[in-house]
Amino acid sequence: MKGERGGFRMLKREQLLQELVHDSYKSNRKLPEPACCPECGAVFHKGRWTWGAAPAGAHEQTCPACHRIREKFPAGHVTLKGDFLREHRDQILHLVRNHEAKEKAEHPLERIMAIEDTADGVLVTTTDTHLARDIAEALYHAYKGELEFHYNKEENLLRATWSR
Ligand SMILES: [Zn+2]
Repeated sequence: MKGERGGFRMLKREQLLQELVHDSYKSNRKLPEPACCPECGAVFHKGRWTWGAAPAGAHEQTCPACHRIREKFPAGHVTLKGDFLREHRDQILHLVRNHEAKEKAEHPLERIMAIEDTADGVLVTTTDTHLARDIAEALYHAYKGELEFHYNKEENLLRATWSR
């Protein structure tokens, strides 16, 4: 699995925010404009992906989110664990899904790929590092607990762990 290679670095929350803002500028540089994703209908125009009607003459271009879903290669992994999680699992996952719905409505590339039970908790995978970070932050703001971030800058992959 690609994500298991080296290159992950533990970051403080403030450091992570700076790195992610920087990286989101780079990722869209080479795409033709305007473009429309044939799978989800997201539109790439003026350097960003949005929901909306495709401009006339738009290129067909699979968006990064659909690309990751097809390749089964998430950008973000959020691990949820702890006794509190086990006791309040449904409520916590409800918050996670609500958060995704809100983000996705504005940002087409911010999507949950899967929510899976693991040996010690729940794993949420996402198409984008920002959503992974935001979900972890949202859990922390709602319930406190512990947050940990590991970021791989070269491949733009984020592993977040929230435990309580
Ligand atoms: Zn798409």
